[in-house]
Amino acid sequence: MKINKVKGTYDIYGIDSLRWQKLEDTVRKLYKLYGYGEIRTPIMEYSPVFHRDSEKSDMVMKETYDFKDRAGRDVSLRPETTAGVVRAYIENKLYAHPNLAKFYYIGPNFRYERPQKGRYRQFMQFGVEVLGGDDPLIDVEVIQLAYQTIKTLGLKGVKVCINSLGDSKSRSDYEQALKEHFKDTSTLCSDCKERYERNVLRILDCKIDQNNPLVLSAPLINDYLTEESKKRNEFIIKMLNELKIPFDYDPKLVRGLDYYSHIVFEIKADIEGFGAQNVLGGGGRYQGLVEELGGPKIGGVGFAFGMERLLYAIEAEGIPFIEEEKPLCYILTTDQKEVGPAMKILSDLREDGFIAEMNLVYQPLKNQIKRAVSSGAKYFLFIGEEEIKQNVVSVKNSVTQEQEVVPLKILSKYLKENLADE
Ligand code: AMP
Repeated sequence: MKINKVKGTYDIYGIDSLRWQKLEDTVRKLYKLYGYGEIRTPIMEYSPVFHRDSEKSDMVMKETYDFKDRAGRDVSLRPETTAGVVRAYIENKLYAHPNLAKFYYIGPNFRYERPQKGRYRQFMQFGVEVLGGDDPLIDVEVIQLAYQTIKTLGLKGVKVCINSLGDSKSRSDYEQALKEHFKDTSTLCSDCKERYERNVLRILDCKIDQNNPLVLSAPLINDYLTEESKKRNEFIIKMLNELKIPFDYDPKLVRGLDYYSHIVFEIKADIEGFGAQNVLGGGGRYQGLVEELGGPKIGGVGFAFGMERLLYAIEAEGIPFIEEEKPLCYILTTDQKEVGPAMKILSDLREDGFIAEMNLVYQPLKNQIKRAVSSGAKYFLFIGEEEIKQNVVSVKNSVTQEQEVVPLKILSKYLKENLADE
């Protein structure tokens, strides 16, 4: 029986896994500089963590993997990480700590979407969540970190778009205005007709209706922001300008989840071949989520980047991202009886921190040489009967073709000195 991978998933190996590691390492290093600690939450949560009364987004309503465990409990694979982080924040009473909770995460999410390039059913995200404060300076730091992420990765054809969805009063006034504006839904697509009832804001985000005159002439949230929301927004804009973070203000940006209020933002790639999947990451502030999941009235702000899309963007822009690590040494034996001592030398070299290899499947010397050459190792270490007798190894530099006899006792020192001289 032939078994394939689950639709919408993929395997990573070889040079690709180095690219993933590099991306993860870059994130960990950068986020540490900003004072974020890692949080790892389960990939499955009880379903109400995601299926909340206020969350009517297409993603949560139509795309989650929901199932019953063997005891009949409703469990979901996480479609996003924020809600699980908030659940952990509440369950572990992290709000009792006087400082802000600043977390980053890296991990898989699951959405039953139509798979295509840049869109999978299991996909990886990294992101941050800052919980425990409402100050707009926190929002500024989070946007700055999102911007710094793409800068550190070397991406150029990328822009930040921001918008404010205001506080709950601004939002409900705006929703009322949109309801009035879209009252005649006859020209809208079938999804938007449903969105009109479920979450009118999402009509602004529809790909099918984006050029519909009714959508183009829709009222904008800016005109409905309360004085306080406006002040907040102005502060953030002023700070982004001061920090020289380039951004576009897009009053139609609404994002895919319903829990956002105040600032929302997206990082978009303007890169050839990206098509509709050009949003690399996005985020915003959520004021009601902690309370809705049973915690105190505390706000949070965060973002998430899609890692597959970031790696595509890095490739599409031709950014030199990784170097393949080749072994420094390849050990070759003239006869099978030297394999034992050779293995011991191999393990000593590795213990001393050198990347070293030898044939584990015994082959005649000329085939071993072929393997050594294709491994790209710099030093070929020959071990024969004479070498064993004299406790030495013949070291050949595969670049210069020079060969030296080196006592085993000083082999590591010899390699280190040679590396230092380069
Ligand atoms: P969201 O959690 O919907 O705000 O998405 C944040 C980012 O995750 C997006 O900008 C994408 O880069 C990425 N993303 C979302 N859904 C998928 C998916 N199905 N496959 C790959 N990446 C995704």
